[in-house]
Amino acid sequence: MDIIMLIGYNQATAMKRSTLELDLKFVEKYGYDFIEIRIDKLDEYLKNHKVNELKAFFSFNKIKPYALNALEYFNLNSKIEFENKKEEFKRMCKLCQAIGCAVIIAAPSCKLDNMKVEDINNNTIVCLHELAEIAGYYNLNVALEFIGMQEYSVNNLLQCINLVNEVDRSNVGMVFDCFHFYASDSNLGDLEKIDIKKIFSLHINDSMDLPKLSLTDSNRLFPGDGVIQLNQILNYFRMKYYNGAAIVELFNQEYWEWDVEELIRVAKQKTEMVCRQVRNTQTEG
Ligand code: ZN
Repeated sequence: MDIIMLIGYNQATAMKRSTLELDLKFVEKYGYDFIEIRIDKLDEYLKNHKVNELKAFFSFNKIKPYALNALEYFNLNSKIEFENKKEEFKRMCKLCQAIGCAVIIAAPSCKLDNMKVEDINNNTIVCLHELAEIAGYYNLNVALEFIGMQEYSVNNLLQCINLVNEVDRSNVGMVFDCFHFYASDSNLGDLEKIDIKKIFSLHINDSMDLPKLSLTDSNRLFPGDGVIQLNQILNYFRMKYYNGAAIVELFNQEYWEWDVEELIRVAKQKTEMVCRQVRNTQTEG
């Protein structure tokens, strides 16, 4: 196999200083295949632009939208709060439909005091069904992302796999984020338990060498610069014929101070290098 994985860019990477317009310009310039759009950045863009301009940008350029990031805190809400979440989700669906973006990421809430895992999971399953129902109407997909920090209600790979399997709908899958996988101390062997087609997005990044329980999103590093065994992870994805993209997603506050263009250029180069190494080890082995 001589295919380098498709590469995408998540807007969290230059979140502080960039805009959607600027990100689009540079991800196109540096040859990314996809962009994962943040809803806050999209809303900011829509203050001065029409959604049709964005649609036109994607039709005239190589870069395509991959996913919309994210419906946050979608589970463990009161009835009224969840109704509001669903309204927000519908709005996101309409935007996705307008620009040709197929996936919306759903991120979990933090745990409530004394809540049992079983109750968390039951509530999460109900919410995912309702979101899937709405997404289905727009012909879209929902991707559940587990957040590796302990305080989150869906915080490890196995739980995420089980929830997706339990929901068992064709338009519900998951995001595999290498940093969250590492921070949650999840087991790579657990990936065997999911159908690779259920991985709707792969977030690629690396981590500082710190105790896992102390990690925060800002401890993310460029792929290849940290301690995550990205080779093993990517090898697994290749072995299973993952045909989606690797989306570089960093939240490092030091990188946020960089020149936006330089950051987008370096993120592409480092991501590509890690993906290429995997290809080489496979060819040699
Ligand atoms: Zn992520």
